[in-house]
Amino acid sequence: MAILPIVEVPDARLRETAEPVAEVNDAVRATVADMFETMYDAHGIGLAAVQVGIMQRIVVIDLQERELEEGEPREAARDPRAFINPELSWLSEETSSYNEGCLSIPEQYAEVTRPTRCRVKWLDTTGATQEAEFDGLMSTCMQHEIDHLNGVLFIDHISRLKRGMLLKKLDKLRRG
Ligand SMILES: [Zn+2]
Repeated sequence: MAILPIVEVPDARLRETAEPVAEVNDAVRATVADMFETMYDAHGIGLAAVQVGIMQRIVVIDLQERELEEGEPREAARDPRAFINPELSWLSEETSSYNEGCLSIPEQYAEVTRPTRCRVKWLDTTGATQEAEFDGLMSTCMQHEIDHLNGVLFIDHISRLKRGMLLKKLDKLRRG
């Protein structure tokens, strides 16, 4: 396993469309393991392969939502989930807003409105087809990560004015 460098805006790779995974093999499983290690190291809850420069349709998510018992290490709340070739098959008409962030746009957040619920089809790490409906933060995170596979960032869902302000703040942050 390895912690991979995270690709940040304005890297052009974040604007490309990722390729479907042709076969779920050991190389894909190794990529998934590296992605989890990278995501945990960066304190993220979701990561798409394109964010580590791998142009394949792979997403990992771990909301780490479970309340910890006293004395339990942070790692005890882990609930890693990998999604290969994930596809949105349904989106609810109802929408909700979350304050979203992205490891490729460090320390910047904005309210993004998306469908509240979504239905997703994907391959698991054994290559089996799975399908499930998600809501709440899991739904938001899933839509955010699938966007990455299509070269879309959360800042594309906010106004041009807000996007401009956010990128200016990021610029300032980077210059120190
Ligand atoms: Zn992101």
